[in-house]
Parts: sequence; structure tokens; C-alpha cells
Amino acid sequence: MRRKIAAGNWKMNGTRASRAVLEALVRDHGDTAAEVIICPPAPLIPILADAAGAFSIGGQDCHAAASGPHTGDISAETLKDCGASHVIVGHSERRADHGESDADVLAKAEAAYRAGLVAIICVGETEAERDAGQTTAVVARQIEGSVTTSATAENTVIAYEPVWAIGTGRTPSIDEIAETHAALRAMVAKRLGSETAAAMRLLYGGSVKPGNAAEIFALEDVDGGLVGGASLKAEDFGPIIDAAAG
Ligand code: PEP
Repeated sequence: MRRKIAAGNWKMNGTRASRAVLEALVRDHGDTAAEVIICPPAPLIPILADAAGAFSIGGQDCHAAASGPHTGDISAETLKDCGASHVIVGHSERRADHGESDADVLAKAEAAYRAGLVAIICVGETEAERDAGQTTAVVARQIEGSVTTSATAENTVIAYEPVWAIGTGRTPSIDEIAETHAALRAMVAKRLGSETAAAMRLLYGGSVKPGNAAEIFALEDVDGGLVGGASLKAEDFGPIIDAAAG
């Protein structure tokens, strides 16, 4: 049985006052059957970690090195020390805005493991790649390049996030999500073995909302969601947690 995940990616949103969002979620959903992970901007991690209860807190990126001359970057070790247990790596906004390659993402995932964090590794095709019928090929290439062979079902979660669905209100059809996730699990089996693939949580991300979460999360190979915009308000993310709890 794979425990479903509701993961919120707050991106570059929030202030110390945003702790109230987490407090409301913990108050109303603190005993949920789902695993809940909130990934705020890094300076808020210690503030949220204090109020997280049974929920987990994650970073949105980490540097591959443990320390050193990398102004503005944050190591996985620092995230861990500040209260994070997870870190997102390879989000398409990092890949696009910071030119991160699959090799960079793999190194960041290894840094996460070194620090004792769970890596949430993101993959997904652009709209042009989708239109060219390359979705499966792109995701397969990203899995080969971004997922190290030391990944396990315990230290890794994979999020399939079509780039064109992020923040747009558009999603693939339910059949397309089912098809891509089944293909994704087969890719993970090829890379890490069928036992690991059977146990690894695969999240869907891209315009998950209270109105579509239950249908998406009910798919056999979807083990929850990575949620951006709809994770910023407790009244939106609460029903998504409920959808993940089943
Ligand atoms: C994301 O950024 O990971 C994401 C899925 O965003 P949204 O839910 O806003 O599409």
C-alpha cells in the first residue's frame, strides 16, 4: 500500500504570517491518512517546522555541495538543520529559470540523500514536446538523467508535472494522466527494479484543484499530488488533503 501524498509548493510566496495557513491545515486535517508536505520559501522553513505537527516541511531546491562559495544557494544540510525532511529538485521553473540540466538535478537528489532528506524529483514535458508526441520520450530521458540508481522508494518521490499545465488551469485528460503515470512506473522499474517501482510514490502536478484532485488521485499509478497555487490557502489545500486521504 502506497500512502498518498498531498505536497504543497508555495514557490516564491508567503511571509512569516503564512504560518497561519499551516496552523489552520494542522488544526483541521492534522490526523489525515495522507502524508502532507509543505514546501515554503526557505527562510520560512524553521517557522513552519515549529507548527507542522505530523506534517512534513520541505525545501524547493538545494545545491549539490554541502557547503562552500555559492552565494545565494542553500545546501541540503542547511535545509535539514532548519527543519526540512524533504526537498523538491528539478522543478520545471528551476530547470527553465536556472538552466538546470538532468545531471544537475541528479546531483541535487544525491545531495538530498547525503543530508538525509527525501528528494521530490520533478519531470515533465513542455507544450511543444507534447504537441510533437514526445511526452513519454522526454519523461524517460529525464528519469534516466535525473534519477540516480541509489534512489529508493523511501528516499525518493517522483512528480510528473507537464510544464504546460503548471499554473495554467489546464490539465491533461484523465486518460492521459493514467497513461503517462503507468509509463512512468514502468520507466522507474527499468531504472530501479520492479520492487522499488511498485513501492515508489508518483505524484501528479499541474493545476490540481479541489475540484479535480479526487479524480486524479484515484488513478492506480497516481499516489497524490504536487500542488502550487491551490496550496497557498487552507480552504483550497484542505480538500486536496482530503482527496489524498481517500
Ligand atoms: C507546481 O508548481 O509544482 C504546480 C503544480 O503548480 P500549480 O499547481 O499552480 O499548477
